[in-house]
Amino acid sequence: MNNVKNRTPPRINASIKKDYVSAADYLRYEHRWSCDECTHFDSVGERCTLGYESSHHRLAEQTRSFVLSGKMAFCRFHEID
Ligand code: SF4
Repeated sequence: MNNVKNRTPPRINASIKKDYVSAADYLRYEHRWSCDECTHFDSVGERCTLGYESSHHRLAEQTRSFVLSGKMAFCRFHEID
């Protein structure tokens, strides 16, 4: 009966999965995996034309996340021409 009271409240915001990136790989490869390099990104409107939330996949945010945690969020729908 009291189990309902002891449950962790649901998240207000959806979590996003971030992957570890080795520092050696980060330095070795050109950063081409952000929205800013993606075919589906509208650079004028600064939005994803597929309708996905792009804030976690922008170059500045990926760089910030890597510097702070060694991890970054990758979009599974990223495409380069
Ligand atoms: S598909 Fe993914 S990487 Fe490409 S613009 Fe949309 S959110 Fe960004």
